[in-house]
Amino acid sequence: MSFEKKTDLNYQRARQSMVEEISSKGISDLRVLEAFLKTPRHMFIDGAFSSRAYQDMSLPIGYHQTISQPFVVARMVELILKGNIFQKSPLGTILEIGTGCGYQTAILSNFCRKVFSIERISPLAERAKANLQSAGIKNYLIRCADGSLGWPTFKKFDAIICSAVSNNVPDPLIKQLNVSGKLICPVGNEKNQNLVLIEKKEKKEIIRKVLDPVLFVPMLPGIVNDDKVK
Ligand code: SAH
Repeated sequence: MSFEKKTDLNYQRARQSMVEEISSKGISDLRVLEAFLKTPRHMFIDGAFSSRAYQDMSLPIGYHQTISQPFVVARMVELILKGNIFQKSPLGTILEIGTGCGYQTAILSNFCRKVFSIERISPLAERAKANLQSAGIKNYLIRCADGSLGWPTFKKFDAIICSAVSNNVPDPLIKQLNVSGKLICPVGNEKNQNLVLIEKKEKKEIIRKVLDPVLFVPMLPGIVNDDKVK
């Protein structure tokens, strides 16, 4: 067996056991588990961390940012799919704030026609595009912008997921959520944060639930265009 084939097989086994781990921690939606089973997380991280690619933990991706913990990504995806029984593209459009390396974008691409993702650090946005291309994923659009302001041209989304914490759910995001849509955003400060789920029942009827404690990097204003912030 060639070295590449053996490595692939090892990654496949490691991915299987990571999926068993997130399932044992409480993720039960088979659509979500399947998406994790087919997404090559090792292709989204730096080679130096590849031996830890399938551990259920966040890892550094440079620029003081991290790739999120698989269980937390799975939990957020499970929450936006809850009550939706469609197998194929259950949602039309999803907005992601904080593309990072593009791993969550890859997971989300299984559940909608198109993922719209915003990243404020330009070199990371470029790297995410390259990672997604290598993984063969095409139904996404990535923009370098400040995600707390929403998608730059006014658009509505069936679901919105933020991967960075802020002290309030940004208002422009609530405005860009479709009726019947769900928005998940970590809310709090760098030490104490919880996932907050917002459901838009009617144009002006919004339900807000505070859920699990989490640990995300901060949502910051403005954009970064150069390579200096390592
Ligand atoms: N979704 C990623 C998580 C990346 S970490 C994953 O799959 O692992 C969070 C990301 O949010 C960082 O890359 C950070 O640069 C970005 N971010 C922080 N504030 C932001 C903002 N206002 N707009 C867009 N991206 C932001």
